[in-house]
Amino acid sequence: MRILIVGAGVAGMTLAALLRRQGLDPTMVEKAPNLDHAGYMLGLWPLGYRVLHGLSLYDRFAAESIPGNHYEVRSDDGSLVHNWSMEPISRKFGPNLSCTRPQLVRLLREELGDLDLRYGTGVSSIEQGNSDVLVEFTDGSSGEFDLVVGADGIHSQVRALVFGEAPTYDTGWGGWVWWASLETLPKETFMEHWGAGRFVGAYPTHDGAGIFAGGPRGDGLEDPGPGRRDRIRAHFAGMGERVDAWLEALPDDDKSLFYWKLLDIRSEEWTKGRVVLLGDAAAAFLPTAGIGASMAMESAAVLADELSRTDQTTLPHALSLYVKRRRDRVERIQDDSRHLARAMFVKSGTLAHIRDLITKHYSLEQLAKSIAKAFDEPI
Ligand SMILES: Cc1cc2nc3c(=O)[nH]c(=O)nc-3n(C[C@H](O)[C@H](O)[C@H](O)COP(=O)(O)OP(=O)(O)OC[C@H]3O[C@@H](n4cnc5c(N)ncnc54)[C@H](O)[C@@H]3O)c2cc1C
Repeated sequence: MRILIVGAGVAGMTLAALLRRQGLDPTMVEKAPNLDHAGYMLGLWPLGYRVLHGLSLYDRFAAESIPGNHYEVRSDDGSLVHNWSMEPISRKFGPNLSCTRPQLVRLLREELGDLDLRYGTGVSSIEQGNSDVLVEFTDGSSGEFDLVVGADGIHSQVRALVFGEAPTYDTGWGGWVWWASLETLPKETFMEHWGAGRFVGAYPTHDGAGIFAGGPRGDGLEDPGPGRRDRIRAHFAGMGERVDAWLEALPDDDKSLFYWKLLDIRSEEWTKGRVVLLGDAAAAFLPTAGIGASMAMESAAVLADELSRTDQTTLPHALSLYVKRRRDRVERIQDDSRHLARAMFVKSGTLAHIRDLITKHYSLEQLAKSIAKAFDEPI
């Protein structure tokens, strides 16, 4: 089967590695010039990294990542709201493992050997015939394929070309991502400060603590350039000593800094003929449950499974089965991430205070209901 995977991110790489195991030889194109872009932190739930066992990559992944054994939430002024042990989940299903996106993507890349992966290349047109798909690439070349997989992330070009605009869920918030010393975090702890009109989270990786600091867009917090560091420091002042230490590590104004709009998308269709969407391209996630990458990997495993049971002639049917197996589960968990966002991204001080009082009495399972349920469901 001639398969084109557009996007060498978490979903595309996982799918490519699984297809190679099946003896298939997909072509991949990646818009970025290398795999080091998007160097942010990622926490993977067992839902997602279970796939790495089948690729014999799990032990190396575990060695390169840090288990999140505690999840600690603090309030606007830095006082403790709740510290949950992740042990009940870890013991039964496996720990949440924290790494960087490039670490995971590079690990998967090593599994791909001499696979045809073209960097700096996107798609400019996609045309479906009766039994194949003609694709023109941004480098001027073209190719015919039996299947095109759009694994090109939240701003998917494949989705735009074949499926049209997808509805967006926008929290109206956004935030900056940077790195601080690992020493600024308690050992093996994911720490979040749920404030009023501000949120700061820190997540451990072997490359340091990944910091995410967010607030409502439109207040000037998102403005790049001169004054950026002072503006961010002023917005997050008074949240406690740890936040102060993270703010100390903010890069200078002229250095590049990743700004992330806190919105997601949900494509109304995942497949049309011989084109299918995978990962964030089909349903992107807010960061609140730290589960977008896990869902992308799980979806890649199901798509690979369906592709192992078909050939060119019945391919569209196999794609429809993939959607049936994935869509409800992914959208339910996406809903959970949206519910969490409503609790985490609160502007009013009064609402934040009430939220903190309620959160003190919550179990981890209550906090993210469908995610906890998803651990125990077959896919
Ligand atoms: C700051 C941040 C923190 C996050 N934290 C977590 C977390 O803790 N846990 C978690 O599970 N998830 C997290 N996520 C979400 C997670 O990164 C995504 O859900 C996951 O990467 C989705 O995988 P994907 O392959 O679908 O998309 P991506 O990993 O984004 O990969 C898409 C790839 O397609 C490429 N591409 C884009 N357009 C084109 C084109 N036209 N042609 C060719 N290539 C193209 C991109 O360059 C990219 O390499 C986080 C996201 C961000 C931004």
